[in-house]
Amino acid sequence: MNYLIIGNGAAGVTAAETIRQHDPRGAITILTAEPSLMYSRPGLAYVISGEIPPQQVIARTQQWYGDLRLELVHGRAQSLDVHNRLVMLADGRVLPYHKLLIATGARAVPAPYPGGDLDGVVYLDTLDGTKELLKKARRGKRGVVIGGGITALEMVEGLAQRGVDTHYFLRRDRLWSQVFNEAESRLLAEKMHHHGVHIHPNTEATEILGNWRHKVRAVRLQNGDEFKCNLFGVAIGVKPQLELVKNTPIQTDRAILVNEQMQSNIPDVYAAGDCAQVYDRWSGQYLLDVLWPSAIAEGRTAGLNMVGQTAPYVKGIPFNACLLFGLHITIIGQISPDPKAQDDFAEIQHLSRGASEVWYTFPRSYQSAWAKSGPHTLRLALSGGNGNGRTLVGALIIGEQTLADPLRALIENQVDATPLLPYLQSDRETLAREIKNLSLSVIRNP
Ligand SMILES: Cc1cc2nc3c(=O)[nH]c(=O)nc-3n(C[C@H](O)[C@H](O)[C@H](O)COP(=O)(O)OP(=O)(O)OC[C@H]3O[C@@H](n4cnc5c(N)ncnc54)[C@H](O)[C@@H]3O)c2cc1C
Repeated sequence: MNYLIIGNGAAGVTAAETIRQHDPRGAITILTAEPSLMYSRPGLAYVISGEIPPQQVIARTQQWYGDLRLELVHGRAQSLDVHNRLVMLADGRVLPYHKLLIATGARAVPAPYPGGDLDGVVYLDTLDGTKELLKKARRGKRGVVIGGGITALEMVEGLAQRGVDTHYFLRRDRLWSQVFNEAESRLLAEKMHHHGVHIHPNTEATEILGNWRHKVRAVRLQNGDEFKCNLFGVAIGVKPQLELVKNTPIQTDRAILVNEQMQSNIPDVYAAGDCAQVYDRWSGQYLLDVLWPSAIAEGRTAGLNMVGQTAPYVKGIPFNACLLFGLHITIIGQISPDPKAQDDFAEIQHLSRGASEVWYTFPRSYQSAWAKSGPHTLRLALSGGNGNGRTLVGALIIGEQTLADPLRALIENQVDATPLLPYLQSDRETLAREIKNLSLSVIRNP
C-alpha cells in the first residue's frame, strides 16, 4: 500500500505515525512545502516573545522519520488527479498514491489594503515567517499590529517584549471581542498597558505606506492621518489552504468537507486538520476548528481509517489554554462575549489561529459567575432549562486555573449542572468547591 500525506503538520504527522502503528509494511510519504522538519505552530508565539529559541519548536527529529520509515519529501503539491491517483508538484515531480491524506493546514489572511507587499509587513504563521519577523523586530522600531484574535495579541506581546514601540489598532473598543466581555477585556488591557503597549480603540488603517526603498514608513488611517511606523503586523485570521483541491471533484465548503471517517466525497481521499471541515455534534453543523488538539485527533482518525479500520471521529469540545501578558486564559466549549455583542458575529470572516467556530456560537442561555477577584475571573455558559436540567456548555477562566479540568469534564460529559445553580453568585471558594464536587461525580461514574 502506498500512502501519501500532503502536510507535515500536527494532522499529517499524527496520521503517518498512526498508519505505521497498524501497517508495518506500507510505503508512507509525507510531502511538505516548508524546508523544516515538523514543528509546533503554537510554539511560534513563544519564539517571538523570546521565551524559546526558534530551533526549540522542532517537534520531530530526522531520526524519528527514519525510525518510522517515513519518507519526507520537500516540495509543493500543485495539482491533483484523483482519477489516476497522482499528485503533481510545482517542480514537475509526480507522486502516485493508493490512499491520500490532504493536511495542508491554513494560512494567515494577507493584509487587506494596498501596501501589503512592502518590506516590514509581517505575519506570525510559519517558522520561516517568524524568523523573518524576528529579524525585523529590533529595538527602537515602531510597530503597528492589526487583528482581533489571539494571534494578534501574541504578536503584540512578542514585539513589546523585544523592545518595539508597539501600537495595537482595534476596529472596536474591546480586546478579543469575539470571546471577551468588557470586564475581561479591561483586565487584559491593564496588563498590556503595564507592558508598554499602546492600544488604539476604534482605529482602522486603510493603506500601508512605503518609502523609496519599498519599506514600511507609515499607515494611513481612516480619517486620512498618517501614523508613522516601520513594522506592520497582520493577524486578521486564517484561511484553510484549498488551492490544491480547486478544479477537482473534491467537495468543499469553507474547507474540505469530510465525513466522520475523515473521508472526502472521493474514495481513498481523506482530509484532516485546519483544512478540514468536520461535523460538530454540539451545534449540529460542519465547522472549522483551527486548533492543535483537533488537528492531532483528526490526523489519528484519518490514519486509522486509511489502514482500513472503521474509526469515527467524535469531535470533542474545543479547548484552548494560552498565556497572554502573564494572564493564563482557558476557553472551553461554547463561549461568546454577551448578547449585546451580537454585532461582532457579523464580522467573523475568518477564524483566528488557535480558535474554534464553536466559541462563537451563542449559548442558549448565559450566566456569569465568580466575576473578578483580582486578576481571577470565571465565566460560565449554561444551556437554557428545557425540563432536562441545565448543562454547562462553556467556560472562560482567567488567572487561577484549578477549575480548568473539572469544568472540562462537566462540559464534555454534558453533566446536569442544576446542583450548581444555587452557588453561581456565591463567593469564589464556595463555587469552586461545588464545581469540583460535581466533577468528581463524573470521574467516579464516567
Ligand atoms: C502563532 C500560532 C499560534 C497558535 N496557537 C494555538 C493555540 O494556542 N492553541 C491551538 O490549539 N492552536 C494554535 N494554533 C493553531 C495550530 O497550530 C493549528 O491548528 C495546527 O498546527 C494545524 O495543524 P495542521 O496539521 O492542520 O496544519 P499545519 O500545521 O498548518 O501544517 C500544514 C502542512 O501542510 C504543508 N503544505 C501546505 N500546502 C502544501 C502544498 N501545496 N504542498 C505541500 N505541502 C503543503 C505545510 O508546509 C505544512 O507542513 C496556533 C497557530 C499559530 C500559527
